[in-house]
Amino acid sequence: MAHNVPPDLAALPKAELHIHLEGTTRPSTREEFAARTGVSIPRGFTDLNSFIESYLLSWQTMTQLGDYARLVREYCEDAARSGIRYAELQMAMIGRPYDQLAEAVEEAQRQRDVVVKFIIDVPRALPVEVGWAMLEKAKGVDDVVAIGLGGPEDGFPAGLFTELFAEAKRRGYKSAPHSGEDVGPEAVQHTIDTLAPERILHGVRSVEEPTVVQSLVDNNIALALCPTSNLLLGVCPTIEQHQLRELWAAGVTFSVNTDDPGFFDCDLTGEYAIAGRLLDLDREGYAKLALDSVDTSFAPERLKAELRRDIAAWAKRG
Ligand SMILES: [Zn+2]
Repeated sequence: MAHNVPPDLAALPKAELHIHLEGTTRPSTREEFAARTGVSIPRGFTDLNSFIESYLLSWQTMTQLGDYARLVREYCEDAARSGIRYAELQMAMIGRPYDQLAEAVEEAQRQRDVVVKFIIDVPRALPVEVGWAMLEKAKGVDDVVAIGLGGPEDGFPAGLFTELFAEAKRRGYKSAPHSGEDVGPEAVQHTIDTLAPERILHGVRSVEEPTVVQSLVDNNIALALCPTSNLLLGVCPTIEQHQLRELWAAGVTFSVNTDDPGFFDCDLTGEYAIAGRLLDLDREGYAKLALDSVDTSFAPERLKAELRRDIAAWAKRG
């Protein structure tokens, strides 16, 4: 029988936990920024490295005061349409002629529909000093809740960042690195061993080694999955073969997310529909997916309680 997606799926309250602020840029905004700076951004990408090339060129165009505030504002407008009530936005916190973290935080605090927190998006292909500078930049900014690690995995193992993450944890940040996207399960195990993560972004290639999947379960580490991103970057050959089914069956807790919706032309309601179809979820199942996003978030407890109540109310409405 065909799978029925709830018609009011967009209204299901959700938390988004794997999203890069610079990757949320609407295509129209990206074109405007590109025209302004004379940077040409290739549209096509087929894997992580070619995507990163486009992403970095786009990143180069966000040079003016007000650009990061605009990114936050436009993300929140788009997010609200997908029922997102809480988001943890990864962002590169340095490398601008202006204080883009301060302006992003200020704009986020102005938003009424979406509560926004930030994650330090450390680029693994740059010297670790860049990560340390980002950690310093976040000092005293209460809305920064975690440290992340992104960029090309191959050749840049998590172990290069052990001291940085240990210091971040001492300062009260959670650990939420990317792993197991373009490198296999051994990289996920290495990340678990070296960065003490509460959450791993992607982590889908864990399924290639059952002991690594078990390690996620045993250590209570949640994944933050992004099905469309994985399809477009060749991490799964077809959406039907996405690893989330095996992860669900193995008892790994995960949230579903968009990663870089401005590039991948996706939204969170659509990602929930994909997951729901692959797992053949009923209304309760969709509610559980949303509940897992809230439970595995770094949101304040009061907000979590409010979202749990609203998700339960949505489940009952069907
Ligand atoms: Zn990502």
